[in-house]
Amino acid sequence: MGSSRGHICWKWGSPLRRLTGFSRLLSTAALGPQICVVGSGPAGFYTAQHLLKHHRLARVDIYEKLPVPFGLVRFGVAPDHPEVKVSTYRVENVINTFTQTAHSDRCAYYGNVTIGKDVTVKELQRAYHAVVLSYGAEDNRILGIPGENLLGVYSARAFVGWYNGLPENRDLKPDLSSETAMVLGQGNVALDVARVLLSPLDVLRKTDITEGSLAAIACSKVKRVWLVGRRGPLQVAFTIKELREMINLPGTRPLLDPADFTGLGDVIKDVPRPRKRLTELMVKSALEKPGEKEASRWASATKEWGLKFRRSPLEVLPAADGKQARGIRMAVTRLEGSGESARAVPTGEVEELECGLILSSIGYRSLPLDSLIPFDPKLGIIPNSLGRVQGAPGLYCSGWVKRGPTGVIITTMNDSFDTAQSVLEDLQTGVLNLSNSKEGFESVRSILHSRGVHPVTFSDWEKIDAAEVARGKLAGKPREKIVDPQEMLQLVSH
Ligand code: FAD
Ligand code: NAP
Repeated sequence: MGSSRGHICWKWGSPLRRLTGFSRLLSTAALGPQICVVGSGPAGFYTAQHLLKHHRLARVDIYEKLPVPFGLVRFGVAPDHPEVKVSTYRVENVINTFTQTAHSDRCAYYGNVTIGKDVTVKELQRAYHAVVLSYGAEDNRILGIPGENLLGVYSARAFVGWYNGLPENRDLKPDLSSETAMVLGQGNVALDVARVLLSPLDVLRKTDITEGSLAAIACSKVKRVWLVGRRGPLQVAFTIKELREMINLPGTRPLLDPADFTGLGDVIKDVPRPRKRLTELMVKSALEKPGEKEASRWASATKEWGLKFRRSPLEVLPAADGKQARGIRMAVTRLEGSGESARAVPTGEVEELECGLILSSIGYRSLPLDSLIPFDPKLGIIPNSLGRVQGAPGLYCSGWVKRGPTGVIITTMNDSFDTAQSVLEDLQTGVLNLSNSKEGFESVRSILHSRGVHPVTFSDWEKIDAAEVARGKLAGKPREKIVDPQEMLQLVSH
C-alpha cells in the first residue's frame, strides 16, 4: 500500500526510513491535501474511499486504536451473519472494499494508535489539513436502575464483544447457568444476542465465533430468551429479515401472546411498508396456525424465545446473597400517542420475572474524545452540520459519532460519503488552506516514537489476518480470531 508499505520495516531513525519519509513529504506536501481519519470502521473506511476517489491528490491516513481494522464489521456483526461481511446488501464486499482502499498508494493504515491518548486531536490538526473523527460508539446506554450492576447483568455490547473477540471483553465469562435469559430492548442487537444464545452448536461452530465463547455456549443452560420492549409491537426496532431468521431458528419455537397482536391488522393499513410487512410477520406468527412442517419443528423444539411488550425495567432483583441477579421488576406501561413516536407511560402495575441472566440491549453510546472537541452529551454525538464539526474549522465527523448509534453499514456509508463531500467542498472553496504545508504522518511518526507507540500497518494486519485464517482452518471455521492484542503485536513485531 504505497508509502505506508515503506513504513513497515523501518526501525526508528534508520537512514532508509528518513529517506522514504523525506521523499513522501516532498511528493505529498507539495501536491495535495493531507487528511486523516480517526477510526477504521465503516465510517472511517467509507470516508477515506470517497476522498481518494474524488480528489486525485488527496492522501488519507487512517488511525485505529486496536491493532486490527474494521470496527463493528469485525467486532459487532454477528458471527452467523457472514453474508454481511462478504456482501453489503448484494452489491459490495465490505471487507474487500475496505482492503482495496487501504491498498491505495495514497492511503495508509496505522493501527494500535489511540487518538486522545497516544496523539491528541490538536496534534493531528497540526499535521493534517483536515481531521475526520469516525471513532464510533464505544460505550453503551445504561438503564440507571437499582441492581443494574449485579452479577448476571451484562450489557449486550460487552456480550457481543465477548463472542466476537473484542480484546476488552475477552474475559467477560458470562454466567450462562440459568434457564431463562431476559434481553432488555427490541432492536437488532437484541435479536443478535438472543440468536447466538439459542443457536444450535453445529451452526455456531462453523462461524468465526471465538473458541472461548463457543466452549461457554456449549455448556450453557439457557433454554428460553425473552426480548422485552417498553412499548408495543408497532414500535419494535428490529427489522424483518432478522425477525424471520429468529422465527426460523432451528431447535426453537416462538412464544408470542396472541393478545398482543389481535386487531393490529387494521391499524397497520397506513403505516410505511417496511413496518407494515414486519408487523404482518409478527401477526402471522402469533395468530395463524403454523404449516405442518413448522408445527412439527415447534413441537420438537427444546428452546424458545418470545417478545414481551409494554414492560419497562424498574429494578434488577438480588438473590439472597445480595450479589447475584435473580429476576427483574418491571413497570407495566401503556402507550400515549401512536406510531413511532408513541410514549410508554407506567400504569402503576408492576410485574416481577425470575431470571438469572439479563442482557441490557438499549443501544450503544459515543464518548467525547477530548475536552477541546465539541460534544453533545445528551445526544451522544459531535454537533455538526453535514459532518463539519461546529465551531472547529478543519475538523469533521462521520458514522455513529456523527449521527448517533443507529443505522446499518449502508446508512453509515452514505453519511460518510456526505462528510467526505463536505471536506471536498471546503478544499475547493479554500476553507481548507492548502498553502499551509502539512507534514501528515511524518510529524505524527515522531510523536509516536517519542511516546513509545508502535503503529501496526495494513500489511501487518494482513499477517495477523493470515494467521487467524490458518488457525481457523484447523478448526473448520473461517478464522480463529486472536483476542489478545499483545499476541497480535508479537506476530508483527519487526
Ligand atoms: P465502528 O464500526 O464502531 O468503528 C469505529 C472504529 O473507531 C473502531 O474500529 C474503534 O476501535 C475505533 N476507535 C474508537 N476510538 C478510537 C480512538 N480514540 N482512536 C482511534 N480509533 C478509535 N450493520 C449491518 O449493516 N449489518 C449487520 O449485520 C450489523 N450488525 C451489527 C451488530 C452489532 C452488535 C452492532 C452494534 C451494529 C451492527 N451493524 C450492522 C451496524 C454497523 O456495525 C454500524 O452501522 C457501523 O459499524 C458504524 O460504523 P462506525 O465506523 O461509525 O463505527
Ligand atoms: P436500537 O435499534 O436503537 O434498539 C434499541 C432498543 O432499546 C429499542 O427497542 C429501544 O426501545 C430500547 N430502549 C432504549 N432505551 C431504553 C430504556 N431506557 N428502557 C427500555 N428500553 C430501551 O439499537 P441496537 O439494537 O443497539 O442497534 C443499533 C443499530 O445497529 C440499529 O440501527 C440496528 O439496526 C443496527 N444493527 C443491524 C443489524 C443487522 O442488520 N442485522 C444487527 C445489529 C444491529 P424504544 O424504541 O422504546 O426506545
